[in-house]
Amino acid sequence: MQITLGTGNEHKVFEINEIVKEQGYKKIVFKAVEGNFNPIENGSTFEENSLIKAKEGARLSGMLTLADDSGLCIEALNGAPGLYSARYAGTQDEKIARILKELDGQENRKAKFVCCMTLVDKDGNTIHTTKGECHGQIIKERKGSNGFGYDPIFMPDGYEITLAEMSEDGKNKISHRGKALTQMLKFINEEL
Ligand code: IMP
Repeated sequence: MQITLGTGNEHKVFEINEIVKEQGYKKIVFKAVEGNFNPIENGSTFEENSLIKAKEGARLSGMLTLADDSGLCIEALNGAPGLYSARYAGTQDEKIARILKELDGQENRKAKFVCCMTLVDKDGNTIHTTKGECHGQIIKERKGSNGFGYDPIFMPDGYEITLAEMSEDGKNKISHRGKALTQMLKFINEEL
């Protein structure tokens, strides 16, 4: 079964296909959307934005499409950067620097990654949605070089290393995306 992935983020395509392999779903193949994928992410929740991306992927590919929307929500910043995680500053290094500055002197470092996934049919109608969260702390300086985005400053609860210091496999077992995808793969395997 071939399913389009509504994303322009190469690293997400890689992570998602790794999780599919790790979980042994040999029949499910995810393929990145081709063409000019540039949806307007103007939803007011992660759920809404994942639907916007999934619909655009289905429009371009004419196929069953999965998309996710994810972000980092920091308690002391009232949930920021949240929906604006991808646009919080210019480069990823600047985004991390902005957060470290905003949390300077702050004792409450609690944060969570959230990921919502929506699966739509070839006409863009919702078939199923799932959600995963990964809770942890924002540390004071960058550590590690694996993963992407805010991984170097996020230490998941129960660990002494950041997501960027974990192996791909280790991150996938506890990550927001890993959890949302695990539920989605189970649905696809059992219901479609
Ligand atoms: P989007 O889901 O592609 O709209 O982007 C969400 C943004 O949240 C990304 O550009 C990253 O900055 C951040 N993000 C989402 N998931 C992760 C993750 O697993 N690790 C680190 N940063 C992430």
